[in-house]
Amino acid sequence: MHATALRRLYLMQLSTTTIPLAPGRSMEMVLPCYLVETSDNKHVLIDTGMAADARQPGTPPAANEKNVLDHLAELGIRPDEMDTVICTHFDVDHAGFHDSFPNAEFIVQRGHYEIARNGHARFASARAHWDHPALRYRFADGDTELLPGLTLLETSGHAPGHQSVLVRLPRTGPVLLAIDAVMMQRLFTMDRKASPQDDNEPQLLASTRKLLDIVERTSPVERLRPRRRTMENTEKIATILRVNFTFLDRSGIKGSVRLFERIRKNGRTLLTSL
Ligand SMILES: [Zn+2]
Repeated sequence: MHATALRRLYLMQLSTTTIPLAPGRSMEMVLPCYLVETSDNKHVLIDTGMAADARQPGTPPAANEKNVLDHLAELGIRPDEMDTVICTHFDVDHAGFHDSFPNAEFIVQRGHYEIARNGHARFASARAHWDHPALRYRFADGDTELLPGLTLLETSGHAPGHQSVLVRLPRTGPVLLAIDAVMMQRLFTMDRKASPQDDNEPQLLASTRKLLDIVERTSPVERLRPRRRTMENTEKIATILRVNFTFLDRSGIKGSVRLFERIRKNGRTLLTSL
C-alpha cells in the first residue's frame, strides 16, 4: 500500500485571442485547461475548454487553436481513460468538452451545479455539454481535499460556486490555479474591481483575499508572512506569490504566463514536469 501522490501537472494551451483594449493597445488572452497525473496513473482534468459550437459572434477570433482531445491524444490518453474532471464553473470556455469523457466522475461545487441546472442563462450556451445525461457528477460543498496534494477552493464572485484548485507538486511545490477567480496576476489586490463578466463584487474580493491568505499560509518563507493585513502587506503577499508560487493566469502579460509564451514560441503545446 502506498498513498497516491501527484506526479505532474500539464498545462494545455487551447487557444489565444488578441483582445483590443484601446487604440494601439491590446492584450493576449490564453485559454488553458490543465491535466494532473498521479503516481498511480490516474488522470484528473481541470476544465475542458471552449465548445466547438459555442463561438460567440462579434468576439475577437481565436488563434493557435488545439482542443483538449487533441492535446490528450498527443499524450497517449484516450477520453475514456479520464478518471476525473474538475469543473471550475460552467462558463462556455470551460465546459465545452465535458461530454467527451464518458467514464469520468465530474466534480463541481453543489451550489454552482444547482444554479446552472435551474436554468441560469449564463450557463445555457454550453449546457448540452455539461448537462449531458450520461455524465456522473459528485458535489463538493466548499473547500475539499480531493486527493492528497489536490485541494478544491470555493471562490465565488466571478460566478456563484466557482472553484479554484491548489496543486502541490513534488518538485515545483504549490501551484495555484486561480482560474477565473483571479484571471490575471495584476488583479491579485484588495482594491480590484469586478469586471462585466463577474457576478458579485463583494464575493470576488472575499475570494481574492481567501487566495491571498492561502498563499500566505503556504509560503515557506516565514519572515515574509505579515502579521497584519494592510495594503502594504498585501503588496508583499503579491510578491510572495510571484516568488514562491507558480501562479498561472490567462493574460499573457507577465509572471508565469511567460510559460505560455515560451510554449508558443517553441511551437510546443504542452508543458510537462511542472
Ligand atoms: Zn468564467
